[in-house]
Amino acid sequence: MVKFIKSATDINNFPATEREVVFVGRSNVGKSSLINALYRQKLAYVGKTPGKTRVINFFNVDGRYTAVDVPGYGYARRSQQEAVQYARMMDEYFSRKEQIKLVIMIVDSRIGLTKDDLDMKEYLDSFGYDHVIVANKTDKLSKNQLNNNIRKLFSDHGDVIYVSALKDRNMDLIRKKIDESIGSD
Ligand code: GDP
Repeated sequence: MVKFIKSATDINNFPATEREVVFVGRSNVGKSSLINALYRQKLAYVGKTPGKTRVINFFNVDGRYTAVDVPGYGYARRSQQEAVQYARMMDEYFSRKEQIKLVIMIVDSRIGLTKDDLDMKEYLDSFGYDHVIVANKTDKLSKNQLNNNIRKLFSDHGDVIYVSALKDRNMDLIRKKIDESIGSD
């Protein structure tokens, strides 16, 4: 059972948690769809609408850990003020080193890692977080195309999990990775 805890935009409002698994990704990569497929639940989203204040959403997963949905990056039509607010919120959030056990970075299996994705990866690496790349929308690719992309687009990126949120493909591999990261205690 996944229960919404709260939305927050700054460090003073983040909930007290023990273990967090964070979902990041470019806007429109299918992050919300993937989270819904993973937890087999339609979760409520706050602040998804472009132009609205974007927030970080916290969810309690079976009392085992906290799933954290960070707003998508690379959204083009953002004002300077919004961009600054977003950067500050991310910096405040990712300074919570104690809690963050795994960052799940969702990318498009057809495109690979864009400049924005690479910047995010470097940013996460600067904190030293364990992360896994999840390549979504594999249903849009034939087997051959997927194999080609695995060789060409993803060869530099270590372990990558290839999924389709739409077709509910390989969600178990993500669940397994999460379980390994949060441990059993
Ligand atoms: P978010 O902005 O990253 O949260 O993305 P959404 O979950 O809102 O999805 C963006 C668009 O991609 C929507 O039209 C989804 O239906 C579509 N989408 C999400 N996951 C998949 C997938 O695995 N396959 C396909 N074909 N479309 C997907």
